[in-house]
Amino acid sequence: MFESLSERLESAFKQIKGEGRITELNVAATVKDIRRALVDADVNYKIAKEFTDKIREKAMGEKVLTAVSPGQLMVKIVKDELVELMGGTESELNAKGNPAVILIAGLQGSGKTTFSGKLANYLKGKKYSPMLVAADIYRPAAIDQLKVLGGQIGVDVYSEPENKNAVEIAKNAVAQARSLNKNVVIIDTAGRLAIDEAMMTEVTNVKNAVNPQEILFVVDSMTGQDAVNTARAFNERLDFTGVVLTKLDGDTRGGAALSIKYTVNKPIKFVSSGEKLDTLDVFYPERMAQRILGMGDITTLVERAQAQFDEVQAKKLEKKIRKNQFDFEDFKQQLDQIKKMGNIKDLLGMIPGVGKAIKDIDISDDAFKGIEAMINSMTPFERANPDTIDQSRRKRIAKGCGKDIADVNAFMKQFEQMKDMMKMMNKMPMGGKMPGLGG
Ligand code: GDP
Repeated sequence: MFESLSERLESAFKQIKGEGRITELNVAATVKDIRRALVDADVNYKIAKEFTDKIREKAMGEKVLTAVSPGQLMVKIVKDELVELMGGTESELNAKGNPAVILIAGLQGSGKTTFSGKLANYLKGKKYSPMLVAADIYRPAAIDQLKVLGGQIGVDVYSEPENKNAVEIAKNAVAQARSLNKNVVIIDTAGRLAIDEAMMTEVTNVKNAVNPQEILFVVDSMTGQDAVNTARAFNERLDFTGVVLTKLDGDTRGGAALSIKYTVNKPIKFVSSGEKLDTLDVFYPERMAQRILGMGDITTLVERAQAQFDEVQAKKLEKKIRKNQFDFEDFKQQLDQIKKMGNIKDLLGMIPGVGKAIKDIDISDDAFKGIEAMINSMTPFERANPDTIDQSRRKRIAKGCGKDIADVNAFMKQFEQMKDMMKMMNKMPMGGKMPGLGG
């Protein structure tokens, strides 16, 4: 995410990091590099200029602190300003109402329907009882798409395929939600490929009819400044309450994330990366600034892990590890959990310093495929009894998954090493428990 911007900023800091003190000259050079980096990341020139003017002013105004080097000082100032530019603090979703209505608007293809599914899933995880509404009356496929998503996450989807009046559908949906005791209604509206008067009128009419608590404008972050212009147009008509940036997993330069708040003065509420329904993140300006500056985002990583954490399963696993009975079935379950946390490269990028190191390495979500294929090729008996997997079984496993016997041998060896490590941890003081992890 934003790799090229991160890299450019880092190189902007490089020179001043070697300086003994802040001077007008070295601040000016750094500021110029930062401005170029922002403009290349598709941040509007005016915003970039205002941003860097502030940086310069702050840097020159700082008292000379001997404890802080000019490099550290600049990084700190830039970080604070990035946080400010992206909205300061996070902005909570208002999902209170009877039911609360959340209207989703945006261009076609921006990721509205996918986001609606993610939001429903997110709210369900927060113990709300959401209902999805398909109010796209032009594309029957959109209704089907929402129904498939709803099915995957176990959320009801309201639709009226024969009705060509989006306002009526929305009103009926809210009434239905009330009678079914659903407390949040998420209305996925129709989009067009470009700003279009008829679309705007329709969404505005739906808005006026159902009085939403939230109107979320969904925008594809890969469209850079176009995203910002679209946001402006939607905001003028809809006066939306928040922005959702999608496709942050793609090759996005960062311009949209950095300019939208400034342009429409509405907070970014969520960022969405990937097509998996459980990878929706609340937008935290502070964490995003840290990621942009290559400081990682451990907090989000931990939260993603917690969301997948199953206490009962974890206790069972701990027992098995303690008795040295960890087997391939457990291994597979662990892999599944990691995969559910999101795109692997994205996850690794949240560890400070790692994002930069792996930026050019292609780590696809298929990274585990080979291992999974080998485990899938084992019989349930073999999975539960790794010790019984002898050479002839290995041959059969290799054949079954189209791998070489050498691959299976290497994997078995790694597995044995992992078990040896677990055994050693069991012998450690505190029974291998890491301090503070409980359990
Ligand atoms: P809508 O027309 O606005 O409802 O957009 P969709 O939800 O149908 O999304 C358009 C396309 O973008 C689909 O192929 C989605 O799978 C894909 N998509 C949506 N959100 C994301 C995302 O965060 N990351 C990626 N990579 N693709 C996404």
